[in-house]
Amino acid sequence: MSNISVLGIFVADISFFGNKIPSIGETILGTNYNIGPGGKGCNQAIAIARLGGAVNFISKIGKDTYGDLATNTLRNNNIDTSTITYSNDLQTGVAGIMVNKNTGKNAINVISGAPSTLTIKEVEKHIEVINNSKIFLTQLEVPKEVTLHCLKKAKENKVLTILNPAPASEISNEFFKYIDYFTPNETEAEFYTGIKISNEIEAKEASIKLLTLGLKKVIITLGEKGLFYSDGNEDIYLKAIPVKATDTTGAGDAFNGGLAYALSQNKSIKDSLNLANQVAGLSTLKLGAGNAMPYLKDLTNIMK
Ligand code: ADP
Repeated sequence: MSNISVLGIFVADISFFGNKIPSIGETILGTNYNIGPGGKGCNQAIAIARLGGAVNFISKIGKDTYGDLATNTLRNNNIDTSTITYSNDLQTGVAGIMVNKNTGKNAINVISGAPSTLTIKEVEKHIEVINNSKIFLTQLEVPKEVTLHCLKKAKENKVLTILNPAPASEISNEFFKYIDYFTPNETEAEFYTGIKISNEIEAKEASIKLLTLGLKKVIITLGEKGLFYSDGNEDIYLKAIPVKATDTTGAGDAFNGGLAYALSQNKSIKDSLNLANQVAGLSTLKLGAGNAMPYLKDLTNIMK
């Protein structure tokens, strides 16, 4: 039995690299392309599994070529796929990513496909798995009524819940009652509070505002500046680990996966934040999202 449940989406990230991002109406000859696993939920599940966590992925996937990529990725990473709904007629999600290889800047079009039709009825088939988990982790990439339903069920069953509110979009106040850890990055935190965050002081201001909404514990990730945690009594600020980042795609996902794993191991909040910060920092060393997630052995190497 898995002790961490992740609800979210898989998409195949299809990246096109070239010397520029083509303008409207323009055709360019690029240099190379890559197809790899993406989607916040899938990335977070991979991060957990690579650390050694027992994790299941609640999602919906099409029966097509990219669906095979999804299934192979999940199986190769030892993620329990028994909670996945397969669809005969809907497509697996894809993200078309145009990358300027000189600047690293990108333009992305995500088609979430099958999981955009995920229903409460479909997740109810696997609700016992969530109810019996220690941790429930999700984002805002599947329909909101499904997210709210699962958060509510998890909380009713004393499961620790983490909402990574990404991509930022409006949620009703009802959500806040069922969230233990709320983990926006700085732009998402700005979306929910109206406070622009560029340092620890502004992160603290934003966290105070979020706590007054009824949230219990807030972690604002600050990219290369690290993270800020507050539960209203205790504040923790951690600097990012010093690494030479090559691609920060999926860093937030690595962080959330690391946090879920650490909490599932009953680590203290300080130790959990430390571990998540290291997992996230290490994920920036490799290209891609899902495939960039570090393994437990990478972590022990930097702690030596
Ligand atoms: P997102 O990927 O959601 O935008 P962030 O950019 O805030 O999230 O990054 C999440 C976490 O990843 C940070 O809190 C930090 O731990 C780590 N991280 C991100 N960028 C770097 C970096 N350049 N060097 C070291 N760690 C980083």
